[in-house]
Amino acid sequence: MENFIKIENMGIMAFKEEAAIYWTCQECGELLCAHRANCLHCNAPNPHFPNEK
Ligand SMILES: [Zn+2]
Repeated sequence: MENFIKIENMGIMAFKEEAAIYWTCQECGELLCAHRANCLHCNAPNPHFPNEK
């Protein structure tokens, strides 16, 4: 039971790390804003911004 909890926590850590990489601007390395079409820091296009409109 204890091992299962440890593995679960590690999975969450890995997920957070992946999400951090996912939302990192490829141009300047700063964090992208999920709600902005462009990077707040260097104005590079946010590749993960949903272009539905
Ligand atoms: Zn940027």
